[in-house]
Amino acid sequence: MEGADFLHVKTPKLLLVGILLGATCLAATAEEAPSPANALGRLKAGNDRFVQNVSVPVSLSPMTRSALVKGQTPFAMVLSCADSRVPPEYIFNVGLGDLFVIRAAGEVVDRSIMASLEYGAEHLHIPLLVVLGHESCGAVQAVVDGTSVDGPNLDYMVQAIKAGTGRTPKERLDLRTAILGNVEQSINDALAGSAILRQAVQTGALQVVGGYYELGSGRVLFSSPIATLPTVTPRPAVVAPRTPAPARK
Ligand SMILES: [Zn+2]
Repeated sequence: MEGADFLHVKTPKLLLVGILLGATCLAATAEEAPSPANALGRLKAGNDRFVQNVSVPVSLSPMTRSALVKGQTPFAMVLSCADSRVPPEYIFNVGLGDLFVIRAAGEVVDRSIMASLEYGAEHLHIPLLVVLGHESCGAVQAVVDGTSVDGPNLDYMVQAIKAGTGRTPKERLDLRTAILGNVEQSINDALAGSAILRQAVQTGALQVVGGYYELGSGRVLFSSPIATLPTVTPRPAVVAPRTPAPARK
């Protein structure tokens, strides 16, 4: 499965006005950034250690914390589910300052998340983005099961996940297929919604891969790097205005 091209990203359509974060400090230089391949190799090596239960200790000392006050140079971005069983720093065996992590249930992409990814790519010069789904994802499971939810915010999440969880009812019956479809959709949404991210991919400054984390084995399966940019229109939830809160029709 590793290296398998289980994602099929389409091409982008919509430009989103990026919400750029202030970049007055903490920015890495391009010279300091590793290559995408190096970054991916480091994640794979760390995950191998985690799987084999030989994770190396990472420094959480006051000295390390003090050194990081001056700035950060994370080598990879991870957009993952908020699930408590999927802590990226543990499963990749890395320490303080190593990963730029964005988490949301079902790794649903909205504008705030896109802004964070843009900040990581453009100002921190991070060369790799992993969009990480996982085994037994409750958010995707709820969508597959057709569980009813209360309130516009949970409905927003459900509608967003539903868009990527399979093209046919039969596909949606298989949870793993639905989870992979949701990862694919999140990558599509991020690239379709952000001109900054698309440009970073086009220039080779940023590589995007999908991942699937197996809860039991601890193994992360990676897709091939996304080679083509999406053409699909992002799901409406992604571009809904933030204020007032998006209401579903
Ligand atoms: Zn989940």
